[in-house]
Amino acid sequence: MPVRTQDTPDPDISHVSDTALWVAVYRAMESRRDDALFRDPYAERLAGARGEAIAKSQEQGASGAWSVITRTAVLDEMILRAIREGADTVLNLAAGLDTRPYRLPLPQALRWIEVDFPDILAYKADKLADAQPRCALERVPLDLTRRDDRRSLFDRVDRESGAVLVITEGLLVYLSQDEAAALTEDLSAPPHFCRWIADVLTPELLDWLRRTAFKSFASGEVQMRFAPPGGAAFFERYGWRAGTVRRVSEESRRVGREMPNAEAFRLLTAAPGGEGREPYARFDACFLGLERA
Ligand code: SAM
Repeated sequence: MPVRTQDTPDPDISHVSDTALWVAVYRAMESRRDDALFRDPYAERLAGARGEAIAKSQEQGASGAWSVITRTAVLDEMILRAIREGADTVLNLAAGLDTRPYRLPLPQALRWIEVDFPDILAYKADKLADAQPRCALERVPLDLTRRDDRRSLFDRVDRESGAVLVITEGLLVYLSQDEAAALTEDLSAPPHFCRWIADVLTPELLDWLRRTAFKSFASGEVQMRFAPPGGAAFFERYGWRAGTVRRVSEESRRVGREMPNAEAFRLLTAAPGGEGREPYARFDACFLGLERA
């Protein structure tokens, strides 16, 4: 089913690309603050009326913004660091409506490749027609579950690059475990794919979100499905080592965007009589800076 990205206030998440409109709303919201952690001047126009309608329809409402805002801010830091440390190509898988090639201070010589479904990339190209990226930008329309197609893309990018940073921001959770494992395996093959930044939930948090906060869309066609059992260990089996593990609970506190009821959530999820910290970690999400072992 093609993604409906027109400026109509239809709140249904009927295609996974609709989630790109949803998260863009939160980047627009952060950009309006005087003390914004980042400024995305295109987020509002990209999110459009549909993005606003989707964000409003989700049960957790505006309070869901904190995790997307934290993720954007922390990944900005991790990406810039990887580039400073030598990445010459960024391969952003499931790029959605991310605008980092336009808003981050990037070297002109950097190559940035965005991959996502054709409709969302066409919508984005149209909305950003007057904007100028700061580095060489290429867009590749592709269903990333099509294994032969993605392997040919990975082979080509590998041949053309010295050191590739892969990003899968907001993608893995929408894959099945088999799809996530197969993608991890394919990302392990190209020798120049040196680093990978991924965000993952713990299985406990995924289960909790499916039963509570995201119940409304988890019952439809688009579902949150994957949280790596064992966390970073899942990726280690395929030759990736977690050089960096940043917990969303801690990072959100560090950047000053903790969820509104964080303290109550900590108490609620702590085991009876427990210390709180470990049980809370089971209901957490992480940003992983993976490196080839
Ligand atoms: N990375 C972007 C960001 O953080 O703003 C977008 C995240 S959005 C939550 C999830 C993205 O995954 C959507 O843009 C969706 O189209 C993309 N996606 C999910 N499954 C995909 C697949 N099989 N092939 C290509 N893109 C996919």
